[in-house]
Amino acid sequence: MTTLTNESLCALAMSEGRNWMPFTANRLVNGRGDHRVVASAKGPYYTMADGKTVFDTLSGLWCTPLGHGNPRIADALRQQAETLDFAPGFQMTHAPAVTLAARIAKMAPEGLEHVFFANSGSEAVDTALKIAIGFHKLKGEGGRFRLIGRERGYHGVGFGGMSVGGIVPNRKMFATVMVPGVDHIRHPYDHAHVAFSKGQPEWGAHLADHLERLVALHDASTIAAVIVEPVQGSTGVLVPPVGYLQKLREICTKHGILLIFDEVITGFGRMGENFASQRFGVTPDMITFAKAVTNGIIPMGGVIVTSEIYKTFMNGPDAAIEFAHGYTYSGHPMAAAVAHTVLDIMEEKGTNAAVRALEPILEEEVHALQDLKSVKDLRNIGLTAAIELNPLSDKSALRSVQLFERGLEEGVLLRVTGDTISFGPPFISTPDQIRGMTAQVRKVIISCEK
Ligand code: PLP
Repeated sequence: MTTLTNESLCALAMSEGRNWMPFTANRLVNGRGDHRVVASAKGPYYTMADGKTVFDTLSGLWCTPLGHGNPRIADALRQQAETLDFAPGFQMTHAPAVTLAARIAKMAPEGLEHVFFANSGSEAVDTALKIAIGFHKLKGEGGRFRLIGRERGYHGVGFGGMSVGGIVPNRKMFATVMVPGVDHIRHPYDHAHVAFSKGQPEWGAHLADHLERLVALHDASTIAAVIVEPVQGSTGVLVPPVGYLQKLREICTKHGILLIFDEVITGFGRMGENFASQRFGVTPDMITFAKAVTNGIIPMGGVIVTSEIYKTFMNGPDAAIEFAHGYTYSGHPMAAAVAHTVLDIMEEKGTNAAVRALEPILEEEVHALQDLKSVKDLRNIGLTAAIELNPLSDKSALRSVQLFERGLEEGVLLRVTGDTISFGPPFISTPDQIRGMTAQVRKVIISCEK
């Protein structure tokens, strides 16, 4: 156990950059000492190696809505490890995965009936894109190879997800190796019209019509699928205008294009419903999920598909292997056991209702920050929110690092991307914890204005 706990070994390994951290300015972080190292976590709080306790404002990376250190989940892990810790998922299966698939299908919007398991959001997305291509091919429409994403969209880091993604810095280094035939519709946010909207903006449904332009440009017969996050999370909580997702659905249906909702963030309650699709009353052809399904404790992702899609594969010409795709750890028994326990706890606690009760509190609290001089926009929906700050003229000022560091001092772990701070607090947060969080954030922002 020494290597797990020995602080000087950890500091040395960090200074040597042994752990190449993802999506991190490693050279900046490595030199910043213990307050960047997490030691433990309980409920909605992390304790850093320097002893400071901080509120988990983003539920980890949108993935720990039940908070940390739940003994029932730890028990479920141990019991499953003692019963069946692994079994191949190819050509055979086991009860935890099968029953979990049935349970997730039951939670999903009507018509979405079958689940294909993966181990992360990125894998779920790439799986969904491949299902879309395969579906059309099996239906004799192999010319439908194009995939349409959206500007500012985030769909993970696989080649498929990266290609349909629309966050510019994530794409820059790899521009030459994007999946061919991908295009993007414009994102649904226009500051001039929707700044400081609470919940869904009334303005902007027509922005979905951009899809018609791409259909006209490429011809529907070449387009397999459109993938969007119902609420764009990683780019800083861009909320769909009223009627926008309905329009996308209509256009896709009209042209025989599959609509994929990437619900890796919004799935399992963040919008106060099992899935955002139910909150917005729009049913896609596939939903990708990950993160909250296991409360972030063990990796799991997946795709829920309509019975039409499933049947198309099952009726295909090749009865041997209908879909030559899958992962060693698809439907891992440990992850499935954790997911069952997480869903049990969500049901017992009534977390969908808890989110709906917390939503107006988060909304009021976040919008009360409008008086701060550096605030450019405030957005919220479900248990998500974003504070967008006016851009700095001096780009070298590294305000995101400053905000993060000041947050730690103040007692809040902040997720800052560019000029935006995003929030997705745990569903188990109390109203006072939400109020405390925004009071701390107010202080952090003010101190960084100086
Ligand atoms: N899709 C969406 C909408 C996400 O927000 C994320 C991660 O934040 C992903 C996909 C990728 O998930 P992962 O990091 O588990 O691969």
